[in-house]
Amino acid sequence: MRHTLKISEETAALAGEMLFGCQNCSTEADTPFEGVFRQLAGQGSDADYVWVVPAHCPICDAAVTPSTLVEPARAVELAS
Ligand SMILES: [Zn+2]
Repeated sequence: MRHTLKISEETAALAGEMLFGCQNCSTEADTPFEGVFRQLAGQGSDADYVWVVPAHCPICDAAVTPSTLVEPARAVELAS
């Protein structure tokens, strides 16, 4: 059974800080942000996330949506 989790503005800001870059500013951005966030949240693939506000890239400040390609920070890569 799928459940829906609402992503608060605060959580979106935290998630943005986990990135090294996005498709706008990094040539190594090849992971959809939603996939990175699912790892961070530890909820697996059975949850639908509803973003109240978009996260923002810490490098170029572009809006990062769940489908935006991003470059995860090293800590995230190690956790996968
Ligand atoms: Zn960026």
